[in-house]
Amino acid sequence: MKTTFRLLVGAACAFIVGAAGAQNYPSRPVTMEVPFAAGGPTDIVARQIAQAMTKPLGQTVIVDNKPGAGGTIASEFVAKAAPDGYTILIHHIGMATSPALYRQLRFNPMTDYEYIGQVVNVPMTLVARKDFPANNMKELAAYVKANSKKVNLANAGLGAASHLCGLLFQTALQTEVQTIPYKGTAPAMTDLQGGQVDILCDQTTQTTQLIQAKSIKAYGATTPKRISSLPDLPTMAEQGYPQFEVMIWHGIYAPKGTPKAAVDALVKALQAGVKDPGFRSAMDKLGTIAVADADVTPEGLRKHLKAEIDKWTPIIKKAGQYAD
Ligand code: ASP
Repeated sequence: MKTTFRLLVGAACAFIVGAAGAQNYPSRPVTMEVPFAAGGPTDIVARQIAQAMTKPLGQTVIVDNKPGAGGTIASEFVAKAAPDGYTILIHHIGMATSPALYRQLRFNPMTDYEYIGQVVNVPMTLVARKDFPANNMKELAAYVKANSKKVNLANAGLGAASHLCGLLFQTALQTEVQTIPYKGTAPAMTDLQGGQVDILCDQTTQTTQLIQAKSIKAYGATTPKRISSLPDLPTMAEQGYPQFEVMIWHGIYAPKGTPKAAVDALVKALQAGVKDPGFRSAMDKLGTIAVADADVTPEGLRKHLKAEIDKWTPIIKKAGQYAD
């Protein structure tokens, strides 16, 4: 009896402290975990939105990179973090493709998070090192088919957007090439520019300026329409590959059980952040596409995540790619 009483008092105190803590939220900086290496596409979006959320939230949003295993290390870390609103995750389409790629996934995208909202959509581009022999998609297809044993394709690990895009590339060409996984496409791009790897499929947040400066070769955009910041780059559909289409969306997540007051504050800060002129102009220069207001909401993210899991699972299963 005594023990039960003590437990009840303890639980009540924890609830009161938790509720009071949630009401003062945020009283210290919030950490945003990024599942890929610093300096890459996801990190670029993360740092911009973290900065834009800082003012409306009233606390600094610190970016922390936890790269590895195609984004699943950071996702698991946040799923298991204290649900107090001080640890959040930014992730992209990989949240929807990992369940099909990893048989042993130690978190569930549909049940282990509170959803905050979508952030921004980012197109992908297929690029190669500057001195790669092929000069356009037609030449690339012919070269890769003829040299599939020696051509290599970098990616940011199984579950990364670059992995999914590379899968679509190989499916479009009906050819398999050697893939080289990195902890993010920032180090992959360094090696591509250094000539150590041949091809990479990567977000415009990282490739736009390099393509404009002609530091790398670009073959096409994976979007239905041409990218505004790269108007000369044809889409894959224009070049005869209508199935080679993918848009990289981003979402912000908190651990399941995060108090409603904290979730609400994060949602408000995100909604203000995506409209911030500094965020918008940085994103516009990098060829990104703003998301509709209705999607910068918990329900907007949840619905899109579910739809994307349903869309990509059969495609990945058909391609037969698994982590184990
Ligand atoms: N976004 C990249 C990818 O998914 C990884 C990164 O941000 O470094 O391939």
